[in-house]
Amino acid sequence: MRKHNTFQIDVGGVKIGGNNPVSIQSMTNTSTSDPKKTLEQIDKLYEVGCEIVRVALPVKEDVKSFGQIVEKSPIPVIADIHFDYTLAIEAISVGAAKIRINPGNIGTIDKLEKVINKAISLDTPIRVGINSGSLEKELLKKYGGPTHEALVESAVKNVNLIKEIGHDKVVVSLKASDVLTTINAYREFAKQLNNPLHLGVTEAGTFLKGSIKNAIGIGSLLADGIGDTLRVSLTGSPVDEIKVGIYILQSLGLKSGINVISCPTCSRTAIDVEELAKMVEQKLLGIKKDLTIAVMGCSVNGPGEAREADIGVAGGKNKALIFKNGEVIKTVQKGDLINELIKELKQ
Ligand code: SF4
Repeated sequence: MRKHNTFQIDVGGVKIGGNNPVSIQSMTNTSTSDPKKTLEQIDKLYEVGCEIVRVALPVKEDVKSFGQIVEKSPIPVIADIHFDYTLAIEAISVGAAKIRINPGNIGTIDKLEKVINKAISLDTPIRVGINSGSLEKELLKKYGGPTHEALVESAVKNVNLIKEIGHDKVVVSLKASDVLTTINAYREFAKQLNNPLHLGVTEAGTFLKGSIKNAIGIGSLLADGIGDTLRVSLTGSPVDEIKVGIYILQSLGLKSGINVISCPTCSRTAIDVEELAKMVEQKLLGIKKDLTIAVMGCSVNGPGEAREADIGVAGGKNKALIFKNGEVIKTVQKGDLINELIKELKQ
């Protein structure tokens, strides 16, 4: 499925690019100066399937706690740096698995060179994170705004600049809040260079709207065979970002795991399908097994409609059914349904 032939980069043990699976990232929104809280959030992200986490390093005072976070985190930690190049150097020194910079706001070439040389000395990869909100002024003037051409020109220029300094372990992102601009930028970049790509639609919005924008943007690119790692950007819980990222990958057959399908409900519905489906998702969260579980509203059509599921539940008048591959195997009290389902799954 992968059509953009990228090279592989090791980010703290997680391999990005080449034929490696698309990895899922998120970013903490706790204060970096509070390592305990930040590590608690990283643990929660890890539990639901986050593979790499990004932590912002806004001020010098946070370098020490950033180092503690790196040391205790169960997954590789990327430092997110804006403006102050010395913070990038210090983050590399305390063990960041990767540095995310936007060369446009790091400042002069001289400062960029110092960051890159430090990264080379400790073999730390860089992400060139091009963002429609912080493009170089001359590119905005040339293209009349943050177009996909402007994003690509900025990315290609900065990747080449970093390569000239001597570092080629560079992952690239070209994010805009406009979905089509984002898609076009990644597609165009993929025609030009083979750096691994970090996919995302920036400032996508709150849960529902943001999930849709991310699914269309990231999903279209993955369906094209473009993309090596992703972050779903949502205003809200980073845990939701991971769940949406997993669902995007599962929807395209790029990730195994528990796949809960549920019927849209209709006048035949004899059970609270929405509540039950959410409960099943919740109870089975993080299970790595490759299983499709159906939650269907009625016993008349449910088992047949969800024949492709490995196991399923369907509402009946007074009782509920558990079925396997379309055949009913058990009739249970509605209140016992979840426990019975889990029992079956364990078998
Ligand atoms: Fe309606 Fe039953 Fe189909 Fe659900 S499974 S949509 S309740 S017919």
